[in-house]
Amino acid sequence: MFQKILIANRGEIALRVLRACKELGIQTVVVHSTADADAMHVRLADESVCIGPPPSRDSYLNIHQIVAACEITGADAVHPGYGFLSENAKFADILAAHNITFIGPSGDHIRIMGDKIEAKRTAKRLGIPVVPGSDGAVTEEKEARRIAAEIGYPVIIKASAGGGGRGMKVALSEADLEIALQTARSEAGAAFGDDAVYIEKYLEKPRHIEVQVFGDGAGRGVHFGERDCSLQRRHQKVWEEAPSPALNAEERAHIGGVCAKAIADLGYSGAGTIEFLYENGEFYFIEMNTRLQVEHPVTEAITGIDLVHEQIRVASGGGLSVRQEDIKFNGHAIECRINAEDPRTFTPSPGTITHFHTPGGLGIRVDSGVYSGYKIPPYYDSLIGKLIVHGRNRVECMMRLRRALDEFVVDGIKTTLPLFRDLVGNADIANGDYDIHWLEKYLAKEE
Ligand code: ADP
Repeated sequence: MFQKILIANRGEIALRVLRACKELGIQTVVVHSTADADAMHVRLADESVCIGPPPSRDSYLNIHQIVAACEITGADAVHPGYGFLSENAKFADILAAHNITFIGPSGDHIRIMGDKIEAKRTAKRLGIPVVPGSDGAVTEEKEARRIAAEIGYPVIIKASAGGGGRGMKVALSEADLEIALQTARSEAGAAFGDDAVYIEKYLEKPRHIEVQVFGDGAGRGVHFGERDCSLQRRHQKVWEEAPSPALNAEERAHIGGVCAKAIADLGYSGAGTIEFLYENGEFYFIEMNTRLQVEHPVTEAITGIDLVHEQIRVASGGGLSVRQEDIKFNGHAIECRINAEDPRTFTPSPGTITHFHTPGGLGIRVDSGVYSGYKIPPYYDSLIGKLIVHGRNRVECMMRLRRALDEFVVDGIKTTLPLFRDLVGNADIANGDYDIHWLEKYLAKEE
């Protein structure tokens, strides 16, 4: 087991990882920018190192400073959290070269999944169902026309290097294709320095369903069921739940089994999420994230398993603590992402939180690094906390969520709490009847 883990992140996820380390009796080091000197993770860690000024590129993305902080403090492993350097293959390679363990998969696996064309090709080879489309990059309009005619319109053109919902263009018919191909390529080139794009069928009313997987790096793979993250705004997840209201036990076991086998065959190590669009009973792979996800707590709530403990165990060579047959699903969980944003316009609302009171009681978990008097710096993303609610079934979970949202107090700034108070009373949400476009349509109607 590791002696000392350096946490290369901030906010709620830094605290989340710190808690797991404390439980396992592992010493903790956190790094922080000058803007985060008063952050909760800095106060609670055994040691902290200031690694630079507020902008992320000078601090949380500064590989040299983070490696130096490991050397100074004698940390033997790094947990990257999510975002920042968590899917940076070069970072994983540099740590390995310094004999520091990256708590995550190998640099090579990160590289494969970071290139969407390569990821899709790999998924297909491993028996994971993919969206029909081109086999690789498409450059010629003639070829694009042929493929689009074959799979049928509408089609979507996606950047191989894309991420965060950027670099995608939809062509409804052949008339749109040429311009969609050209703009997608030039936007991808400008945004990612790589203009490779590919074509796939555009699914009109899918749900976003993702499978939590783990590999032990020695050929064993397991799945922890799925999460439904269809409630999105600008491709950003807002509300996540497990299990998906749309799947039955048979579909769950089937897609979970396919993913676990693929992870085993790949020789993957650590936590991963295989993301699908789901429409008319079919799953279509879109991408794999090679890290812990923001929404991992809903999976923890229904399985009772601490996924960060598992990540640390696997990275230290101790293997997974569970076999597939030990993973049982119990009840229903929902997570709401509470952002420091206007609940209608979603413009960021940094400032000082004058009063912060979290709900409690059975089935309630709040993961947050903020407190009364905390000043939210304007440099980072606006997530200030996550409310995770668990119940024996979806109805009980929703009742509890409504009550917890009423108890939650965040004064001094605007937050997205009012949006969740509206959603929890909505009939479609109560029925679990929504797709990836539902929230945007709902918000447009409310305006
Ligand atoms: P990113 O890495 O940028 O998040 P993804 O491939 O995960 O890109 O896609 C992000 C979102 O774009 C999906 O959740 C979905 O809303 C939409 N999307 C992607 N591919 C398709 C498709 N083939 N059909 C319909 N929507 C799609």
